[in-house]
Amino acid sequence: MKYCQGTKCHTYDTTDRKRGTKGNKRNQTRSISHNYYGGGSFCTLTCQNDWWTEHGSRAIDHFGRLHNPIVLDEANAWRQVYNHDHWEDTTQPRFHEKNMITKAIRPLTREQG
Ligand SMILES: [Zn+2]
Repeated sequence: MKYCQGTKCHTYDTTDRKRGTKGNKRNQTRSISHNYYGGGSFCTLTCQNDWWTEHGSRAIDHFGRLHNPIVLDEANAWRQVYNHDHWEDTTQPRFHEKNMITKAIRPLTREQG
């Protein structure tokens, strides 16, 4: 069984978290059938945020904290965008590439997905 990784999941009072009979009642972490967020690890964004509050800073340090800005320059700024000419003339390609720095336009350089 896979459970929500939220550090406070069991503290949110909903009927689907309740277990046990009178005298032995408890709330527990939700199981996989309710896990929708964070790549399937959390039942709600609240649980994801609880995990982040407790572990996020250490996770960034573990996987590599940025110490310099990431740069978008002319060389890596080409993005596939919708070709507005296609709206008027469907013989025109549906997509082309636009350089997000220079605003230049060029045909697609790779196969369309
Ligand atoms: Zn949860």
